[in-house]
Amino acid sequence: MVKDIAATAESSPDETAVGFRGQEWSYEQLWGMVSRFAAGLEDHGVEPGDRVAVYLPNLPQFVTAFQGTLHAGGIVVPMNPQYKTREISHLLGDSGATVVVALADLVPFVDSVRDETDVEHVVSVGGEAEGAIPFEEFLADEGTEIVERDDDDVAVQPYTSGTTGKPKGVLLTHHNLAWDARATARLMPDGVRPDDKYLGVLPLFHIYGMTVTMIGTLFEGGSYYPLPSWDAAESLALIESEELTVLHGVPAMFNDLINFEDADEYDTSSIRFANSGGSSLPIEVMRQFESLFGVELYEGYGLTEGSPVTHANYPGTRRPGSIGKPLDGLDTRIVDENFEDVPPVEKGPVNEAEIDLDEITGELVIHGPNVMKGYHGLPDANEKAFTEADGKRWYHTGDIGYRDEDDFYYIVDREKHMIVTGGYNVYPREIEELLFEHPDIADAAVVGIPDERRGETVKAFVVPVPDAEVTPEAVKAYCLENLAEYKHPREVSFIDELPRTTTGKVQKFELRERDAAIRGDN
Ligand code: AMP
Repeated sequence: MVKDIAATAESSPDETAVGFRGQEWSYEQLWGMVSRFAAGLEDHGVEPGDRVAVYLPNLPQFVTAFQGTLHAGGIVVPMNPQYKTREISHLLGDSGATVVVALADLVPFVDSVRDETDVEHVVSVGGEAEGAIPFEEFLADEGTEIVERDDDDVAVQPYTSGTTGKPKGVLLTHHNLAWDARATARLMPDGVRPDDKYLGVLPLFHIYGMTVTMIGTLFEGGSYYPLPSWDAAESLALIESEELTVLHGVPAMFNDLINFEDADEYDTSSIRFANSGGSSLPIEVMRQFESLFGVELYEGYGLTEGSPVTHANYPGTRRPGSIGKPLDGLDTRIVDENFEDVPPVEKGPVNEAEIDLDEITGELVIHGPNVMKGYHGLPDANEKAFTEADGKRWYHTGDIGYRDEDDFYYIVDREKHMIVTGGYNVYPREIEELLFEHPDIADAAVVGIPDERRGETVKAFVVPVPDAEVTPEAVKAYCLENLAEYKHPREVSFIDELPRTTTGKVQKFELRERDAAIRGDN
């Protein structure tokens, strides 16, 4: 990966690699910084295979630290900059990172766990911090040679979103990432063009932002414009001022964009490709985005363990409501509990109101060059995560879906989100899609809550559009009109905002907890 940056620095030294707040770094400049960061690591005793934690929001220094670590043969451990002491204590302890590159404001969190971890050096970005070496000082005066690594050596160790349980370190190799970044770039017409400019608002600590926006762009000589946090107005302003061409986001961002009143004040005509991933894209959000912004919005699917992308819709090959087809070179199946293939439907998406989803769905399992080596130091989790069959090692995604005869795949839900009510299986996504179609609803999520009679019952959390006159009763009635009786939410709560992870996934466990707290209070 680093070699590709070196090659572009050689062939097109003056092309822009990274742009941030009006400043630009050419490939030659980026390459110089990356190489000097790698030399700084070597000066501080970092050896091939050592782990370097990057605890930063999206900034040019993230790119330098990331690529510089790979250059020195190290392994990058990205850490969500929203994490505090408790969370980083687990990540640093589990990974054994010896160097942490942190935003100056976050250094105190690192300090508070330093004694219980292997951290030897802390590098501060954006200011000085006690006990830390400022980033600019850490860079050596001269660059260094790239340390050769095998394709099968681990390059990064991100931790999975951990909406449940303790986050697990995912071992992704150089080949895993390079393969996925290239395969994803190829989905755009002509791949990444040298004049492509990517909006870099997906967090870099998460695999979607890391592989698809940062690695993918720099691999092919495009330009990367990081933004430290999501803000609809700021993103639109950046798209307009820099004439960005590629927009990757999670559904919550596209939902914000369509609900953003001043969106039409910005010129976004430079965008030639827009893609959504990370969670299911409601068809209604896709339609509205396309009509407001005049560009097609493609949906892809992936997961940290898949580096991430495994399925995608792309120009000339798409089916709204579907996550698309498996990337070329990947094996993917829908299997039942005996690991037998569930037969495909004729053509999807099926009308979920008319079909018994249990008959056509199974778990999505994947095998291919982008699938992780395994979880770090967790033999039991690895045992559970993989099944050996037909000479292949299949990874269990935990996602429930079906496929059609044209090989388009459809995700119905996460296994753990399925609601069993009075013996019926209910997939929240179906109800969420319906709620999104309601003109007075801006956002919605459906969860199962305990119910004495039915085991679980369906509950919807709804964010109404401002000034709407809709009531919870009206939402219930609307669902009842459009869904089988057992599926309709018997409870509807209005809230101001849904709790989400920084990568846009609704934290359903938190909604369940909120519901339990309300009940406990009664
Ligand atoms: P992460 O490891 O944080 O990238 O999360 C991966 C999970 O996100 C997958 O296992 C899915 O549950 C979910 N996911 C990603 N993309 C989609 C999509 N297009 N539709 C539905 N779920 C998705």
